[in-house]
Amino acid sequence: MKKLRTWIGLSLLSVFLLAACGDDGKSESHAPTGDQPLKVVTSFTIIADMAREIGGDLVEVHNLVPTGTDPHEYEPLPADIKAATDADVLFYNGLNLEGGKKGWFFKMIDTVKQKDENVFSLTERVEPMYLKGEDGREEEINPHAFIDPSVGVKMAEDMRDILVKKHPSKSDEIQKRGDAYVQRLKEIDKEYEERINDIPEQKRILVTSERAFQYMTSHYGLKEAYIWEIDTEENGSPIQIKNLIEFIKTHEVHVLFMESNVDPRPMETVSNETGVRIAEKKIYSDEIGKPGDEVDTYVKYLNYNIDLIHDELTK
Ligand SMILES: [Zn+2]
Repeated sequence: MKKLRTWIGLSLLSVFLLAACGDDGKSESHAPTGDQPLKVVTSFTIIADMAREIGGDLVEVHNLVPTGTDPHEYEPLPADIKAATDADVLFYNGLNLEGGKKGWFFKMIDTVKQKDENVFSLTERVEPMYLKGEDGREEEINPHAFIDPSVGVKMAEDMRDILVKKHPSKSDEIQKRGDAYVQRLKEIDKEYEERINDIPEQKRILVTSERAFQYMTSHYGLKEAYIWEIDTEENGSPIQIKNLIEFIKTHEVHVLFMESNVDPRPMETVSNETGVRIAEKKIYSDEIGKPGDEVDTYVKYLNYNIDLIHDELTK
């Protein structure tokens, strides 16, 4: 109920903003002419970083969900509404990260009356993987494909191609920057393969709180285990904890990983009950850090995670 009211509030607010800005009602696409940077809106931190890497000074990025905030559920602020209204291009993850067609992102797109041709999912070429429902059936799409660098390559390629089209006067430069960035991600993909193959087979098990690492683990040949399927469900119920404890005993797991953005208590309970330690450094899943943090770009995020996974699983 609270959400509904917020949305009515936002809709009114955006009408007001449009009127107050004296934009003479322009909600049409306004591709930049000449040297103006392309106005880009991104749904969360990882896509924002990709846009800055590929676009450089040729784009002006407004990011929606900030570090420390759940991308699965979000309430856009007035500044977000304004940026989305004025944007030349809007990028979102898709695969239900932003709650799907009925989620917060598309409600915002509706509110600001953006044209479909300006709004792009970056996972059109990604084969979805599914989470289990409470009755054990596969039902919900797992949104966390970007944790897998081979998916990051596809996302960056698509973003590069879209930005090239949307900014014709700077297309050569964007193409060049995009190619270089995609190349870096391809190298990281190779590195994931090599370093995971370097881990003794019986130790190739990644235990985390949320089931966020499904794409990455299945792509590179790790076993995955977790307490809960996705952050939007109950996190750390007694039955979830009991199931993981059983798994840990059966598979002789020797280290547990804690994400940067979860409640630490459920994994601490698992650790206390099993005597298996939690890795000292946090693993990153739903976000990168704020500018200046150790992990403030997608490239650093990918490198950091594989360093941590390799170090801990070869101990
Ligand atoms: Zn998540």
